[in-house]
Amino acid sequence: MDELKKTKELVEKYLKKKYPDAQFTDEDLEFLARFSVKKEPKEREILKELGLISGKGTVQGYYADHESVKNAKDCIQAIYERFNTKRNSQKEKEHPVDVFGDDFEAFFAWWCDKTPEDGIRKCCYCEVDEDTVRAAFAKDEKDKCVISSKKRSFSGELQIERKDPDGDYCADNCEFACVICNNAKSDMISAEDFKKFFVPGIKEYWAHIEEEIKKKNP
Ligand SMILES: [Zn+2]
Repeated sequence: MDELKKTKELVEKYLKKKYPDAQFTDEDLEFLARFSVKKEPKEREILKELGLISGKGTVQGYYADHESVKNAKDCIQAIYERFNTKRNSQKEKEHPVDVFGDDFEAFFAWWCDKTPEDGIRKCCYCEVDEDTVRAAFAKDEKDKCVISSKKRSFSGELQIERKDPDGDYCADNCEFACVICNNAKSDMISAEDFKKFFVPGIKEYWAHIEEEIKKKNP
């Protein structure tokens, strides 16, 4: 039971940063902890057990009346997909490295820890925020796109950077980094040298990109 309490507290901590105005009941948090984080199957049964839906109630009906829970569930699912993609891509490699001990909760706890109080994540090097990088790549609106690449891994999502490139993907070794910093630094340049010689130029570049975004979104 203590284990579940810990997970609920983690979910609550993350949602406070991400959705400061939304209200979640203790049962909502337990549902999200069990279904979204602990990956307990049988969504409807958990909702029923917690008294969130009645005998005839449907999962869709519950989400229709509780949009904030639906948004929270989708948001945690998107984080899970990042974890899963990373884990699977590592498994396919000749020399895979451990990704958070195959433990989604550990990954989610790291993600929560690296999310500032205002809910907007930033590159650990140049400090560009995730909204700016996403807007620059404007995945779904080609006419608003300011940066594009044929490389699939080059996207508007902040990447998961290992400070020590030979180390595992674990909480102590990972930070969020923008696609420009992560790929420029790669495994060649120390964090210290990167900050000294490259980050000032990258900051200037993002300031320029922000101007370009503004021009395309008057
Ligand atoms: Zn950066």
